[in-house]
Amino acid sequence: MSDNPRYVFEPEKRPALPVSNSDRLFPIRRIYCVGRNYASHAREMGGDPDREAPFFFSKPADAILPGGGRMPFPLATEELHHEVELVVALGAGGARLEPGSCRELIYGYAVGVDLTRRDLQRDAKASARPWAMAKGFDRSAPCSPLVTAVAVGHPRSGSIGLSVNGEIRQSADLADLVWSPEETLAHLSRLVELAPGDLVFTGTPAGVGSLSSGDTYLAWIERVGELTGTVLGPEHAGAAI
Ligand code: MN
Repeated sequence: MSDNPRYVFEPEKRPALPVSNSDRLFPIRRIYCVGRNYASHAREMGGDPDREAPFFFSKPADAILPGGGRMPFPLATEELHHEVELVVALGAGGARLEPGSCRELIYGYAVGVDLTRRDLQRDAKASARPWAMAKGFDRSAPCSPLVTAVAVGHPRSGSIGLSVNGEIRQSADLADLVWSPEETLAHLSRLVELAPGDLVFTGTPAGVGSLSSGDTYLAWIERVGELTGTVLGPEHAGAAI
């Protein structure tokens, strides 16, 4: 059989993340993100962590930037913010799930950074418009290789943090999550059907701040891994490198 002769052009391969200590790749279907899932960050953004159910937004699958590395400064922003997050990778799916049945969906974990064009997000909030352009831009989801749940279990406590040029900006503990990964997946599965290949960025702790041209960040989560990346200068603005 010939290869997809009816496509107008050759479809791109699915974005993927490498799996640590293996030669395998995890193909990405969708990227979901949770807003305000650490009490400290909810407060710094003006929310009330005690009363808000989790809410979600998404990024395109090809926003993933495996391994961080060097990235051009994004288009259309003067306020690029870092948000370090535990990323949950699903090896199975379902809809209308209970938290008690969600752990078995989880294939593995990664360290991700939910890069945010905070100036665009502020404008979107003020005018009650969507966050899509503030959150779902090119290369907005740097992510470490996945570690499997088989290898590391299900980390629910331990250090999560991010430094910029060696200075610690975010430092917290996974135990401070308002909604656990299982609870988050259960909520999300009531909105959309989950499927293998879905990634969920589970929210960021306090200390979000700006990344400027030339900055190097280091993000870490105990038992999960590290991620480092550098934002290139304005001469690279928006261009693929
Ligand atoms: Mn976030």
